Amino acid sequence: MTLPLPSEPDHDCDLCPRLVEFRLQNRAAYPDFFNGPVPSFGDLSAELLVVGLAPGLKGANCTGRPFTGDYAGDLLYPTLKTFGFATGEFGAHIDDGFELANCLITNAVRCVPPQNKTIAQEETACRPFLVDTMKAMPNLKAIVALGGVGHNAVIQTLGFKKSQWKFGHNVRHALPDGQPILFDSYHCSRYNTNTGRLTEDMFHDVFRSVCTELKIEF
Ligand code: URA
Repeated sequence: MTLPLPSEPDHDCDLCPRLVEFRLQNRAAYPDFFNGPVPSFGDLSAELLVVGLAPGLKGANCTGRPFTGDYAGDLLYPTLKTFGFATGEFGAHIDDGFELANCLITNAVRCVPPQNKTIAQEETACRPFLVDTMKAMPNLKAIVALGGVGHNAVIQTLGFKKSQWKFGHNVRHALPDGQPILFDSYHCSRYNTNTGRLTEDMFHDVFRSVCTELKIEF
């Protein structure tokens, strides 16, 4: 069965005034950057979806690929490779030849926010793109939400209440009605790894749980 491709925000998407203003500033300051809503990376036929927060200014917003050029990608991508969800050498640029396998990565908010902080209006405005992405993934079985914003985006996209499904690191949420299993992780941001809130072992634990769920040997 071929499903329709998910709708993607236009490069000049104008749903969020604050993000449009920031984008215009960044286009002036960094004309060589991608400076637009960063599309998902990976394969719609994947069993695993990773949901991040939003592009970093000089990372994904520069390269146009989620977590590419961002400090957070230096932990995320090698981890995905360790657990068999990626092939090639991650080179932190869009032409590195690195590919995801059985995995798709997207962000709860597609545009870079000032100070790396999204606001509720932006999370709501961008949610239809996540809804569409998930609908276009016929084999989706597991989701890793990186941080609370990603967690809430998934819970609300699936029509559940945030108050009933609380974020917790390496918590496995068995959502009802045949929905994919949701795993939470602290975001693999520089802040979280520098402060020790998230260690590499803790991050790997989450992907071990995912592999067990998907019956993948690692
Ligand atoms: N952090 C995220 O959450 N997403 C990205 O694409 C980059 C950094």
